[in-house]
Amino acid sequence: METAAIWDKCLKSIDDKVGGSVFELWFKPIKLKQIKDDYVVVEIPNRFYKEWIEENYSEIIQNAFREQTGQELTVKYKIAEKQDKEVKKFDARIDSRRRALRNKGVFLNPKYTFEEFIAGPSNQFAHAAAMKVTEAPGRAYNPLFIYGGVGLGKTHLINAIGNRVIDSMPNFRVLYVPSEQFTNEVVAAIRHDKMGELKDKYRNVDLLLLDDVQFIANKTQTQEEFFHTFNALYEQQKQIVISSDRSPRDISDITDRLKSRFTMGLIADIQLPSVETKMAILFKKAEYQRIQIPQDVAYWLAMKIKSNIRELEGCLIKLAAHSTLTGVPITLDMAKDVLKDFLHDDERPLTVEIIQKAVADFYGIRFQELKTKKRTKEIALPRQIAMYISREHTDLSLNDIGKNFGGKDHSTVIYACRQIDKRKNADESFNRIIESLINKIKG
Ligand code: ADP
Ligand code: MG
Repeated sequence: METAAIWDKCLKSIDDKVGGSVFELWFKPIKLKQIKDDYVVVEIPNRFYKEWIEENYSEIIQNAFREQTGQELTVKYKIAEKQDKEVKKFDARIDSRRRALRNKGVFLNPKYTFEEFIAGPSNQFAHAAAMKVTEAPGRAYNPLFIYGGVGLGKTHLINAIGNRVIDSMPNFRVLYVPSEQFTNEVVAAIRHDKMGELKDKYRNVDLLLLDDVQFIANKTQTQEEFFHTFNALYEQQKQIVISSDRSPRDISDITDRLKSRFTMGLIADIQLPSVETKMAILFKKAEYQRIQIPQDVAYWLAMKIKSNIRELEGCLIKLAAHSTLTGVPITLDMAKDVLKDFLHDDERPLTVEIIQKAVADFYGIRFQELKTKKRTKEIALPRQIAMYISREHTDLSLNDIGKNFGGKDHSTVIYACRQIDKRKNADESFNRIIESLINKIKG
């Protein structure tokens, strides 16, 4: 197959996965430049676009190439725009920091620091607790458990702890690990009979940062291993910081003894940011990226994007990319035009698919799974939630909703709605999860 044909196919499969507006916004402008034996080169408008793609969508791109070529290809990104010297210097600094950290085996994101973090009413408690932890790791609050919705700054904040501790206490052994990776390591260690090495790695640190702990729900052996790791570190007064998209008691399928460990220190939540905080974040990001963003555009974006700061940032990057590509400065009209497919208006009817994607995204499953017959807990709950939201926020009949979930009948939908209703009434934080999902879906 020739290059263009392969890329067309990749794009098609990416479109299937990420869906219309995200696809339009992020993937359309990407070009495939070269395919070699073990790598491909894709071209991207500018450096922030590149970072954005690398951080959010690199796996999707990698998978698309694997599906289309049957090979494991490294994806290299090339920037189309000519870069100025200052910017290059700045990038080089971040890159060298990243490399230095990696050489020490620390996988922190060098961009996520306290200096780049905006504190506001929605997050100041978590922010203050995080700062406190860096002053006296293992002494102040142990563990520190930070929770909040998607894209509200948890990963940023726990990386900031790591970055600060590394700088102020160079001999401190810091370990940052996303829970998914921890899980994979446990699985691999069991399979290759290397539990000893795993224990060495995780129990000999001064600061353990475990991101997105909700992922270890359901995974018995991972929980077991983490429980012992936790105890070992705790007894030696080593600092543990955990993030999660929900509070300890809302993580289902996690053992009680682990839950009780999570609540032994301090629990801090991050709420939805106010418009002012969102604007402050936008200006901070714009400054960092050397983008000029007018006040009215920042206000409009902050009003439009209710719940997810990553999306806010995504819009900014998209506007900047558009502006550099076309030479048109960022204005309110321009922003409305460029983002029109992405930020749909409230009047625009929701579709079941939009709902399914958002719910699946939240639960870390593929939205197609909601249409299967699978009855496992991981699928059944999200499916019920998606049915419930579809019932409440679309005009479709029960039968039509059922059809959209792989041909279920209307009684299944009624049952799902009742279940969700009941649980919402009984459990305030579950209620909040659903509300924030709905907010997010309505954008
Ligand atoms: P989470 O881990 O909660 O899903 P992240 O930490 O990945 O969210 O944050 C998403 C994006 O939003 C990141 O780019 C982060 O820098 C940015 N962000 C979130 N909150 C803030 C904040 N208070 N100040 C500055 N940037 C923020
Ligand atoms: Mg995160």
